[in-house]
Formats: sequence, C-alpha cells, structure tokens
Amino acid sequence: MTEILDTRTTDPKRLIPGSVDDWEVIIGLEVHAQVKSRAKLFSGASTEFGAEPNHNVSLVDAAMPGMLPVINEECIAQAVRTGLGLNAQINLRSVFDRKNYFYPDLPQGYQISQFKDPIVGEGAITISVGPDKNGDFEDIEIGIERLHLEQDAGKSMHDQHPTMSFVDLNRTGVALMEIVSRPDIRSADEAKAYVNKLRTIVRYLGTCDGNMDKGSMRADVNVSVRRPGEPFGTRCEIKNVNSIRFVGQAIEAEARRQIAILEAGGTIDQETRLYDPAKGETRSMRSKEDAHDYRYFPDPDLLPLEFSQAYVDSLKSDLPELPDAKKERFVSQMGLSAYDAAVLVADKPIADYFEQVAEGRDGKTAANWVINNLLGKLNETGSDLEASPVSPAQIGSIIDLIDNGTISGKIAKDLFEIIWEEGGDPADVVEQRGMKQVTDTGAIEAAVDEVIAANPDQVEKAKEKPKLAGWFVGQVMKASGGKANPQTVQELVKTKLGIEE
Ligand code: ADP
Ligand code: MG
Repeated sequence: MTEILDTRTTDPKRLIPGSVDDWEVIIGLEVHAQVKSRAKLFSGASTEFGAEPNHNVSLVDAAMPGMLPVINEECIAQAVRTGLGLNAQINLRSVFDRKNYFYPDLPQGYQISQFKDPIVGEGAITISVGPDKNGDFEDIEIGIERLHLEQDAGKSMHDQHPTMSFVDLNRTGVALMEIVSRPDIRSADEAKAYVNKLRTIVRYLGTCDGNMDKGSMRADVNVSVRRPGEPFGTRCEIKNVNSIRFVGQAIEAEARRQIAILEAGGTIDQETRLYDPAKGETRSMRSKEDAHDYRYFPDPDLLPLEFSQAYVDSLKSDLPELPDAKKERFVSQMGLSAYDAAVLVADKPIADYFEQVAEGRDGKTAANWVINNLLGKLNETGSDLEASPVSPAQIGSIIDLIDNGTISGKIAKDLFEIIWEEGGDPADVVEQRGMKQVTDTGAIEAAVDEVIAANPDQVEKAKEKPKLAGWFVGQVMKASGGKANPQTVQELVKTKLGIEE
C-alpha cells in the first residue's frame, strides 16, 4: 500500500525518558467517523441512534440471500466533502472490496470496505500544540494517508440474558469513513490535538456529528517507540478508543509498556490491544492479522465507483468556511490574537456567536466578552452554548453601553450577571436599576472632596508619592457604588491633590 514515510524528527523536549535512554514515540491514527446521513451506505434503513434493537434493519443489512447493495449517493458526497476538507486528493474512480471475516454481528460474513483504491487519497491536517513555557503554540502538519468508506458492524450484547448473547443489527451497514493518518504524530498531546482538529473539521463540514460518547467517532491508535535516529519499531494497535482523553492516556500507557520491554532486552510483538481506562493500561486482545488474512477482493455486486471532476467541483463550491480559514480571517481582518481566534473557531457555534456579537463592533472587545465572560460562565455553570440564557444581541448591547459611556466596565460585569440570571434588555435594566455611570462632574467632585477631607494623612503621603492617588480613586469609586466614571474620578483626584501628569 502507501509507502510509510519517516519524515519527522521529534523535538528533544517531547522525548519520553526511559531508565537509560530517551525514547521517541511514533503514532499513527485510524479514525472511524460515522457518516452523517439518514440512510445506511448500501440500504435505505435508518441510521437513527438509540432506536429499539433490530428496528432499523433492512433485508440487505440482515444479509438475506439474494439481496443486493445499492450505494447511497449522499454517503459518497459526504466522503468527498470530508476529503476536500482534509485538502486531500479525491479519486474519481474507487473500488469497494469485501473484507472477509466471521463475527456474530456481521451477518454477511464480510464487510464491504475499500482496500486498494479508496475514494480519498493523501491529504493533511494542521494541528496546533502548546502552549510551551513561553506561552507559544506550534503548528504541525500531520499527513493523511487515505480516507475510505466502509460498513459498520452490528453489536453483540452479552449482558441481557444469563445464558444467551443477543445481537442488535441497527448499526450494521451504517456508513463509516476510516481516516488514516501517516505515522507523523509524536506525542500524546499531538494525538489529542489531531483528533480534536479532525472532529472540528467534520463538524464544520456536517459530515459526521463527532460525538465520541455515542460512538460516532472512535480511534484505533497505533503506537511504537524507538531511540532517536533508529528506524521505526514494531507497532501495536489499540482498538476502539472512544474519547480524546483516553487516546492520550492509552498512548502514554502503551509507550511506557514498550519502553520497559525494550530496555529489559525484549522485543515487541505486533498485536491488537485494548485500553482499560480503569486500570490505566493496555492489554493484549489478539495477535495482529495481516491484510491477506482477510482475502480482500472487489465486491462483485458493486461496480467501481466513478464520478466526474465537475461533481467534485460542485461539492467544493458549496463547502462552508473551514476552521483554518476562519482563524486566519479572525486574525487578519478582525484583529484577534492567534490564541483567541483558535479558541473561538474550535467550535463552530461559538465562532458564529462571536461573529454576531462582533457585527459592527470592535472584534477584540467582542472576543474578550465571548471568551472571558460568556465561555467563562458556561464553563463555571457546566452548560453548553445552546443553553446560554444570554444572546449575542444582549452581549452586543452591553458592549455598546460601555462604549457610549453609559456604564463602566465594572458595572458591565454585574449587568452581565443580571442578564444571565433574569434576562431582559440590557439598556432597560441599566435604566430601571439606576446603574448608569455618573459623569456629572459636580457630583463626582463632591465625593472626591469628601474623601480628601476625611483622610489628611493619606493626602500628605500622596503628595510625595503620586502613585498613592490610586487609593483615592478606589475610595471614590467605592463610595459611588462603582458608578462614577473612573476617568473623571482620576482626573479630579490628581487636580485636587496637585499631582502633575
Ligand atoms: P492496518 O490496516 O493493518 O492497521 P494501515 O496501513 O492501514 O494498517 O496503517 C495503520 C496505521 O498505523 C496508520 O495510521 C499508520 O500511520 C500507522 N503506523 C504505521 N507504522 C507505524 C509505526 N511503526 N508506529 C506507529 N504507527 C504506525
Ligand atoms: Mg487498521
């Protein structure tokens, strides 16, 4: 198949220390992403999650004799869109093969997959890892080897009856995209960033919902270790890892296991393993099978899949703006830092929310409000954006109230809390609760005079040490319940104390 290129050298700071040597960990991921489509890859049965067992099973899925697969065009379009989103080669001709094996949840006795000629060839994903000690992020390109379409299997259920196992074929025949990376990944953090980025991309594209907790995305994690400069070592494949956190943990556990064996003079057996999150270790499942064990051959029930470049181009012209392009635009056109832009684009609904707040306003201010106040509050209360009681229009109006001098930044934070709890139009709330900033110089002057008169000792000190003027500003602000215009207070305090700028 594809040649395995050994193109990356690991930054020494990412090496894993063994008892004698430092080790480099080499990782390649095979991610199974369930295609978002109403019907299965080769049948019209529904793909709905959580239906009664064996409710969504057609005669094709149950492999009744004489049934013929019919390809679902929407699944093809989704695979092409995903390939385009990965900047990958789209193959105008691909072939469906039978991968033969027996399992009770696979009534056909083979899985229809793509072997030699996948629908999508080489591509790449850019991940950002960091921050390092200086707060910097590094962009790394991870090669994609291929993306192919295949059928999912059903599910055996061993815990429903004391002496029998059951099988649920609802998932049988649902379309999966297997997205295979090159062995370009060099640490658990990079692997987590890769899965995260891949999930963000398919969610933007709408080609997979990316919900790992429902099994719509799962990763097979290939891990090997070597001393820097050596050729690739033997890899083990950890199957079906179903969360990003576990991807990281499985890699670390597996790398430690392999390093211990090699340092003790042993060798690594090529194996398929499982990660046990409760024990924090991987354990052997079976020795690794080779491709020829499956006796792949082109499925005689299906013609090779062929489509035109014009078809690909039309799908391409309908793609949404993807996270990298959005991030670039947020930085270059809206003046955001790379970090803030990355936070916002990581989740499309958040990016959309931010853009609504930023409409006609300063981008940086809008980003601050969304990241620090909104996301901060969502985080604190453990809620999702969809459940946010505060709308983009409400945040926008709070920002406008600061901008036009109606409220101070400090009062704005209180206002946000009130809107979060009670809702309402921010401008009305400010009016009704008397939260308006006091810009009336006369009133502020009186307050400044009062504080100065009450603290003669501080006045003497401040005259020698102008920095202490800040203390007076604080006192006046406090006395005004945060409503005095801080700039006016500052100016008046300085004038009254006779401090030069
Ligand atoms: P298979 O289907 O037999 O698992 P593939 O050729 O599809 O094999 O590749 C599986 C994955 O293993 C790919 O993601 C690839 O990058 C990765 N891989 C290959 N060699 C190594 C290695 N030495 N260490 C870690 N990962 C590797
Ligand atoms: Mg594999």
